[in-house]
Amino acid sequence: MSEYESLKEKLFNQKKCGWESASEEEKNKINTFGDEFIYFLNKCKTEREVVDFTKEVLQKNGFVDLREKLVLEPGDRIYYINRGKSVYIAVIGTDMLETGLNIVGAHIDSPRLDLKPNPLYEDLGFAYLKTHYYGGIKKYQWTTIPLSIHGVIVKTTGEKIKINIGEDDSDPIFTITDLLPHLAQDQMEKKLKEGISGEDLNLLIGSIPYGDEKTTEKVKLNILKILNEKYGITEKDLLSSELELVPAFKAKSLGFDKSMVAGYGQDDRVCAYAEIRAMLNITNPKKTAVCILSDKEEIGSMGNTGMESHVFDTFIAELLNKRSENRPNLLDKVFCNSRMLSADVDAGLDPIYASVSEKNNASFLGYGIGFNKYTGARGKSGASDANAEYVAEIRKLLEENGILYQIGELGKVDVGGGGTIAYILANKGVDVIDCGVPVLSMHSPYEVTSKYDIYSAYKTYEAFMK
Ligand code: MN
Ligand code: MN
Repeated sequence: MSEYESLKEKLFNQKKCGWESASEEEKNKINTFGDEFIYFLNKCKTEREVVDFTKEVLQKNGFVDLREKLVLEPGDRIYYINRGKSVYIAVIGTDMLETGLNIVGAHIDSPRLDLKPNPLYEDLGFAYLKTHYYGGIKKYQWTTIPLSIHGVIVKTTGEKIKINIGEDDSDPIFTITDLLPHLAQDQMEKKLKEGISGEDLNLLIGSIPYGDEKTTEKVKLNILKILNEKYGITEKDLLSSELELVPAFKAKSLGFDKSMVAGYGQDDRVCAYAEIRAMLNITNPKKTAVCILSDKEEIGSMGNTGMESHVFDTFIAELLNKRSENRPNLLDKVFCNSRMLSADVDAGLDPIYASVSEKNNASFLGYGIGFNKYTGARGKSGASDANAEYVAEIRKLLEENGILYQIGELGKVDVGGGGTIAYILANKGVDVIDCGVPVLSMHSPYEVTSKYDIYSAYKTYEAFMK
């Protein structure tokens, strides 16, 4: 190496593709982890399904419901499930809680189509379900793909019926139709965002009539007859349901080299999965390790299962109570002494749409976990901006553990931006930085990530909590 080359090596922040330096052994671990993640993605297509899966995994690994514990000791592994839709997990450290927590927080809701409260109707011989989309979607992407129905219907008796249709090979699927190009002249002249309207996202669910000449809405009647026979419900029971339409196709390895994962809901279940797996490895930490799997991030984190709610504060206060540490105003102090990785996905640079990214500050697939020092949009508006001191601390951790990482921004300055749950914890006094797996086609029915980055995120969350 020439004198100049070695000086460059020393002084430049050389970004590297992780695959180039990964050993065969590492590649095997990365691929195995990627395959396990694909299994998880196919099992968990809604927040409720992630919660059920997580509960099972936690119980198998010695975690117990916080409500069953009167006293907590260092090394105890506990979890708290909030209304079946979000989870907080902790492994109690040997240090006092008031010295601060190491928190990793992801969200487990994803963009999708929800059913309206009165969804069922019949029109010209077809039965449909009306939807209201959840989160930021490009509506045209949700037509002409196989969709499955997941969720719950709760009867006035309190009986809860779990629904999951369209995943099993023997199940039917559902779809939203679109206009044939031959007759789409007007539609094709519209702006992309107006091509499909929210009120046209109606799910096709049946076409066989039931009844005699005098019966009206025969197709709707037949559908309700089927639902009544299968689930014992009437149309009115749909009023107290939460039914979500998600892509019915399976997550898979992507590419001849199988280096990537294609699948629905990777924002943010990819970080959630890496976080859960990391948490299972935490035993007897010095500082208490806490994991958050939150709901409602995609629509602003509001409500009692979203991160803006006080349920998380109550959870930490319960830890203080059960460690016999609590005293007035201690919770605020705990937060001020805590640090957090906000585990949410990053926009990966897509060469086809490179013009929206600024390449010096974009995250590349395969280059390791992507950090965003700040989020926000246009002039950092609404940003949660990590302090330089904290960024240095995290850099040290990653470099000492040999974890490849990249720090960038979500898109060009004036193009757009985004947010995560980071600001909510930062507002409580926690040191927070966003970091997660770079994604292509984010918020689409089929998102793309690199197995290298998924593994890098897992190693990061593990090192942080250890
Ligand atoms: Mn997200
Ligand atoms: Mn999102």
